[in-house]
Amino acid sequence: LPVIRSQNSPDYTPDAKFYKVEAILRPWRIQQVSSREKALLKMGIRGVTVSDVRGFGAQGGSTERHGGSEFSEDKFVAKVKMEIVVSKDQVEAVIDKIIEEARTGEIGDGKIFLVPVSDVIRVRTGERGEKAERMTGGRADMSVTALT
Ligand code: ATP
Ligand code: GLN
Repeated sequence: LPVIRSQNSPDYTPDAKFYKVEAILRPWRIQQVSSREKALLKMGIRGVTVSDVRGFGAQGGSTERHGGSEFSEDKFVAKVKMEIVVSKDQVEAVIDKIIEEARTGEIGDGKIFLVPVSDVIRVRTGERGEKAERMTGGRADMSVTALT
C-alpha cells in the first residue's frame, strides 16, 4: 500500500511541481532584492508579483508607532509582499537569495511562506505546467549560454 501521510503527521509536506515563494519584506529592501544586477534576475527569475501590504508581527508598531498599545489599525506596518512562482528545484535558491538580500538582522525583516502550486497557466497561449512556468530570459535560456 502507498504511504498516505495525513496533515497531522509531522513529516507531511504537500508535494508539488511548482511552489509560490511568498515573502513579506521591508519596502525599502525590495529594490535590492529584485534589481537587475543583483539577486533574482541574475538567477533567471523573470516573473514576480509585488504588492504593497500592511502587516502586524513581532515588530508591531515599535518603529512606526503612532501611540496606543492595543492590536489596532495604527500598529500595522507597511510591508511589501513579493510572490514568485518557480519550479520545485528553484525554491531553495530563491529563498536563500531573498534572505541574503532582505536581511538586516533587526526585528521586522519579514517572513517567507512556501505555498505548493498545482498548476501554472499562461493566458496568452493556454499553455500549462512547465511550458507556462518557463519564461523568456529565464533559467532554461540561461543554461544555453552556460550560466547554469
Ligand atoms: P506572455 O509571454 O504572454 O507575456 P508571461 O508568462 O511573460 O506571458 P505576463 O503576462 O508577462 O507573463 O505576466 C503577467 C503578470 O503575471 C506579471 O506582471 C507578474 O505580475 C505575474 N507573473 C508572471 N509570472 C510570474 C511568476 N512566475 N511568479 C509570480 N508572478 C508572475
Ligand atoms: N523557472 C522559470 C524559468 O527559468 C522562471 C520562473 C520565474 O521567473 N518566476 O524560465
